[in-house]
Amino acid sequence: MGLDVQALREEFPILQRQIDGHPLVYLDNAATTQKPQCVIDAITHYYSHYNANVHRGAHRLADEATKAFEAARDTIAGFINAAQREEVIWTTGTTEAINLVSHGLAHILEPGDEIIATQLEHHANLVTWQQACKASGASFKLAPITETGELDLAAFEALLNSNTKFVAFPHASNALGTLNPIKALTAKAKAVGAWVLVDGAQGIAHERVDVQDIGCDFYAFSAHKIYGPMGMGVLWGREELLRDWPVWQTGGEMISTVTYTSAEWNVLPYRLEAGTPNVGGAIAFGRAVQWYQQLNVAEVHAHEQALLASCTEQLSTLEGLTIHGTAPNKVAVVSFTMNEGHPADIGFLLDRQAIAIRTGHHCAEPLMAHLGVPGTARASFAAYNTLSEVDALAQALGKVKMMLA
Ligand SMILES: *Cc1c(COP(=O)(O)O)cnc(C)c1O
Repeated sequence: MGLDVQALREEFPILQRQIDGHPLVYLDNAATTQKPQCVIDAITHYYSHYNANVHRGAHRLADEATKAFEAARDTIAGFINAAQREEVIWTTGTTEAINLVSHGLAHILEPGDEIIATQLEHHANLVTWQQACKASGASFKLAPITETGELDLAAFEALLNSNTKFVAFPHASNALGTLNPIKALTAKAKAVGAWVLVDGAQGIAHERVDVQDIGCDFYAFSAHKIYGPMGMGVLWGREELLRDWPVWQTGGEMISTVTYTSAEWNVLPYRLEAGTPNVGGAIAFGRAVQWYQQLNVAEVHAHEQALLASCTEQLSTLEGLTIHGTAPNKVAVVSFTMNEGHPADIGFLLDRQAIAIRTGHHCAEPLMAHLGVPGTARASFAAYNTLSEVDALAQALGKVKMMLA
């Protein structure tokens, strides 16, 4: 039967928009996905019916808000197959989740320790570790990639040794689309006793995530890349690590008892969630995940892979166009440059034709330097994109070529 993409599209009010009289073609999903009506409604309903602070009020609204907020945590825990709900820590996004981990790690790192990340990294999973190493005297190593934009597995393995304290890599690259063999990478890193963090910002919306099966210690992701609201994310971590992880922000909620001169910390997950959380955001995140789960995820996956294949095939026929990232296993991201013009010009001219893509370094400046390009133009797909939108992109790029020639 396949995915009913038209029915799906009707759930997204923004996809009905016109740009200069043309239907919007939204191909910037790796930057953020659009939101279905039910997610928008979840936010509105929260603020119009039961807005209250959680875990503290002695009234009906506070009780309802707390229940919905904690139910959202259960939804996320189930979605990623966390062993315990307390392992799901709310954050403002992937970036904050990674910073939470690195803040704690900074208390533990010593000169002589080594951290490994990869050349594929988004700045969030690069600068954070680079700076943690600078501050502690630990050394920072980068696993290289091959011509196709895949991790060089032998080189990755060669970097691992008994000094390796921490290993971080992306589930999928936002800039090239490369899907990493995260289970195998994790197993190799765990074999030398390192802690492993997977940056799941791109993986979560495209791949089935089972944190216990992956075997990693931390998995970080953002709501807004999986049909949820902005400003919400999750750090999942193994309970025995998070239980003792150095607290990173102090204030309300994260304490158990306080005197003027001392404080004791709350239990998980609250010890790592200081202050009033984004309650409506968490509830809407839970709703987004429920919405996603009621789709046939295998069908969504097949559909996105068909979009990727069609886009790759059509763009490859355009002379002077280079696709960056040609790994056999990719999420639906196509990054490219054209001989005729700068990525920014491509983006501008596509926008004139109502096609939204992203151009620039995609928060992966060192990777762009490594590829020898100033940046790329990137089309990235979600469940609601159609094969005719891919055709529209290919046709529009044909025009762009002529305009720039
Ligand atoms: C988007 C993204 C991030 C950062 O996510 P935020 O939502 O901006 O915190 C990190 N890593 C990858 C691979 C991303 O795509």
